Amino acid sequence: MKIIEMQNVSRYFTLGSNKIYALKNITLSIDKGDFIAIMGQSGSGKSTLMNIIGCLDSPSSGSYRVNGFEVADMDKDRQAELRCKTFGFIFQKYNLLTSLSAIENIALPCVYYGLENKMRIEKSQKLLKDIGLEDRAQNKPNELSGGQQQRVSIARALINGGEVILADEPTGALDSKSGETVMNIIKNLHKSGHTIILVTHDRHIASFANRIVEIKDGEIISDKRKNDTVPEVKRRASLSKKSSFDYFRYQIYESFRMSVKAIAAHKLRSLLTMLGIIIGITSVVSVVALGNGSKVKIMENVNSIGTNTVMIVPGKGFGDKEAGKIKTLKIDDAEALSKLSYVDSVNPSIATNGLMIYKNRSLLASLDGVSAEFLQVINKKLQSGRKFSVSEVKAAAAVAIIDQNTQKEFFGDANPLGETVVFNKQPLKVIGVMAKEDNFGPPATGLHVYTPYTTAMYKILGSQEIAGITVKVSDNVNSHLAEDSIIKVLTARHGAKDFFTINADSIRKMVEDIANTMTLLISCIAVIALVVGGIGVMNIMLVSVTERTKEIGIKMAIGAKRRNILQQFLTEAVLLCLIGGAMGVLLALSFSLAFNHFVTEFKMILSLDAVLIALAFSMAIGVLFGYMPARNASNLNPIEALARD
Ligand code: ADP
Ligand code: MG
Repeated sequence: MKIIEMQNVSRYFTLGSNKIYALKNITLSIDKGDFIAIMGQSGSGKSTLMNIIGCLDSPSSGSYRVNGFEVADMDKDRQAELRCKTFGFIFQKYNLLTSLSAIENIALPCVYYGLENKMRIEKSQKLLKDIGLEDRAQNKPNELSGGQQQRVSIARALINGGEVILADEPTGALDSKSGETVMNIIKNLHKSGHTIILVTHDRHIASFANRIVEIKDGEIISDKRKNDTVPEVKRRASLSKKSSFDYFRYQIYESFRMSVKAIAAHKLRSLLTMLGIIIGITSVVSVVALGNGSKVKIMENVNSIGTNTVMIVPGKGFGDKEAGKIKTLKIDDAEALSKLSYVDSVNPSIATNGLMIYKNRSLLASLDGVSAEFLQVINKKLQSGRKFSVSEVKAAAAVAIIDQNTQKEFFGDANPLGETVVFNKQPLKVIGVMAKEDNFGPPATGLHVYTPYTTAMYKILGSQEIAGITVKVSDNVNSHLAEDSIIKVLTARHGAKDFFTINADSIRKMVEDIANTMTLLISCIAVIALVVGGIGVMNIMLVSVTERTKEIGIKMAIGAKRRNILQQFLTEAVLLCLIGGAMGVLLALSFSLAFNHFVTEFKMILSLDAVLIALAFSMAIGVLFGYMPARNASNLNPIEALARD
């Protein structure tokens, strides 16, 4: 039964406009189980013939069939499958992968076959024993002698069955003793049923074969059978077939393992490759965390104005120069507003500056006249003492609440409650101390005291005018509707709209919008860093593909399909980017920890969402920028890749 049938096969190479024929009209068929030697001078076309037989190269013309199937009709993947399952290559220069150990080299074709790890190890251990190298399993090729390397490569050719062994000058690089060992192994392989096709220029080596075909200048010049032995065909066990899902799973797992190896093999380079991604992810995550943190802080400040509050100020708007002359906003207005059903509380503001005296110290201070509910309206708390009672406000009682600065300046650590201070000649009894403010920005300077607005109006200022009113709207009422209605009420009272309103909700919304826009803007800039990082990854991957062309060629020769190669390089790029992304996240995390430790103004808030999005993003960059190099790798021509040093 014929396993190899060639009819009028020619192969030429074009050099400029010249056609150089390496093979001319070769017609050759090989029986299953035969042992054939192809002999010829160097340059006669032996390797070209071998490459065509092994489906690494295709004929320029003519027909070539394997097991009766025309190879030209098969796609690249089917040809790769033939290389993987039917053929086993033994090269003159061994072509082992230098980064893998002996046993891993032997097991590699099984990866492309789709065999699971455990079976792979079992099979390769058995083969390692057969070739007498069981104690060298973990050695890398450069730790083995030439003869040992060639034996490893024989084992590799056999692991998927190796029905047809293609040996191209297998002893060419070996001393005569190792050559003898290798030839004995090959002879035994023939005895156990393998079809052997051996290329050599050495008559002694050729004499091991049953049949010797001689070629010269690309043509067969003789074809002799040593004796009349018809090759004996033995059935050989084939490997079990795997489901395509398992196949896929092993491939993913293997590409992952190989990628980890490749990345670990060049640690510094990998780190530098990732640098762009690391910087990009660190900046995106940090910026988002800073944005979140400052937004929270700003919102706290905005909320300290009070939620659901509307402020009423004389004038047409912010910066109205005429506002000082408008004297229409009176305490009566505040009282009228406080009677409205949708108003929760009202805090008229009257402010003035003056001299404050306690014992023998006198200092400048500012004073706010406020209502009983002022703490609630401005969202502040007392540290000690109590707030003004409604009756105190009604009676214009001479009481005061002081701030932290006043407490410090006048009383130090002593208790100020019950003491009397004098403001602009008006004695005031201290009944409370404000809590420390933790607002954004520098701490409040100067001394600040609060009295009931009645006290401020009648006892200190002697006037009914007020500087503004802060209205707290009831919780279940829309502040914008309330604002409209307040404007109507006040306009009716004054006869004209000589005031303007500030709605805390509008301010909050505005500030929130600004904060979001800022975060988005800075994130966009950080994304540019990521893209630049991605281009860096692509660059290095392209270099890496060029550098590892030989490795790709070897893998293709032992049965890797194009998508195996594509998958491996893509996995490598994605893994690089993911590791870079993870490092970036860690960096951002440590940065935020340091930031939160040293900066008290506001906190960086790292959200899980941002981290996950960052990781997904780096993965996407790996796919995006890794695809081109990976595709280049998978499109390499196997023999050209193999020929590379
Ligand atoms: P052998 O293995 O018998 O020494 P080869 O099959 O390698 O010979 O080469 C046969 C002929 O084809 C040689 O003349 C060689 O120069 C030519 N050849 C082989 N490969 C190429 C190639 N890729 N491009 C151009 N010429 C080639
Ligand atoms: Mg050759």
